[in-house]
Amino acid sequence: MRYFDCGTLIDGFSDDPVHDARVVVEDGTVAAVGPREEVSAPEDADRVDCTGEVVVPGLVDAHVHLQGSRSMDPMDWVTDSTALGTARATADLRSLLSAGFTAVRDVGSTTGLALRDAVDEGAIPGPRVYTSGQAISQTAGHGDVHFLPAEWVEDGDGISTLADGPAECRKEARRRFREGVDCLKIMTTGGVLSEKDAPDQSQFTDAEIGAMTEEARRVGVPVASHAQGAPGIKSALRNGVDTIEHGFYLDEEAVDLFRETGATFVPTLSIMHRIVNHGADHGVPEYGLEKSREASEAHYDAVRRAYEAGIPIAAGTDFIGPDLVPHGENALELELLADEVGMTEMDAIRAATSMAGRTVADDAVGGITEGKYADLVALEADPLDDVSAVRDVAAVYRGGERVAV
Ligand SMILES: [Zn+2]
Repeated sequence: MRYFDCGTLIDGFSDDPVHDARVVVEDGTVAAVGPREEVSAPEDADRVDCTGEVVVPGLVDAHVHLQGSRSMDPMDWVTDSTALGTARATADLRSLLSAGFTAVRDVGSTTGLALRDAVDEGAIPGPRVYTSGQAISQTAGHGDVHFLPAEWVEDGDGISTLADGPAECRKEARRRFREGVDCLKIMTTGGVLSEKDAPDQSQFTDAEIGAMTEEARRVGVPVASHAQGAPGIKSALRNGVDTIEHGFYLDEEAVDLFRETGATFVPTLSIMHRIVNHGADHGVPEYGLEKSREASEAHYDAVRRAYEAGIPIAAGTDFIGPDLVPHGENALELELLADEVGMTEMDAIRAATSMAGRTVADDAVGGITEGKYADLVALEADPLDDVSAVRDVAAVYRGGERVAV
């Protein structure tokens, strides 16, 4: 057994921090937490002194791709081998841990399942990985690679597979469950980095989306939808998805649907910020730059409106590995939520802890409360003064064990 004495504790749920706090850890989970005078130290337990630090829950990035990419050129994403990507991604996992990220949701990769299992076995260090495996897209959809001959995509090993019609969609979902995924990722609109579609085009019919969400419900797996334009966001929500990824254009009806369904919004401001500001220097294709610039203002506006409406917002970067969007700098999302959206520092922290925890089917993720994983980050400075302090990591603990810094 082990306990942590904390200068200040932010638990990921509460409105206020606890000063002079104590966290008792047993078998990797939080056994007790509260003000030090109310939580007694167990006998024969190790004391970890964090009295000079601010302790926050291990951060969660609710939207990553552990694909190990090192380029923003979609052609490289096709030609790089999965083996090379997996090897590089082991370094990305270490970078994530060092940055205080103790859990990630991988929503589209050929590598996620193997990485998850290797981390779980203790073969490689890393955050807890919750993965969709390969995403599911319609033909000509966001996950199709439009510049390649169709047969190459169908027989290839890209980050999405293709399915058309409710029967194929159902079968593709079942294939993912057979592989052992933790969530399903589907594409219900076009996107920025897919050449021949557009963010405001909806993809998949209601019947196709419904077939996949029905299968997912049966096995208790949440469904994430890449959805940027309002029509595709609304068809995803009406047909039972659990999270909306990106959400560039939200109309009133979409906001109401979020409220009715309790779905979580994962805006992924970070990748858009990086593409708009630095993408041209990093080989982002012209069509990607153009579509990002066009959507950027509406995107911030959508997130602000969602925040005002009280919709649950989770932090997710959409980082994939290259210098433009590298793992290890995932704290950018909290900064953008605070600085550009206007979230309070506490809400930005909650977005990367309890709110991000909502996106995975594991109740033990996302906070320092009884029964949760003892995933903690000790910070040198107070993120309630400036959320950038989440970058000043003194130590990272996973399941109560020190894993980084
Ligand atoms: Zn993504």
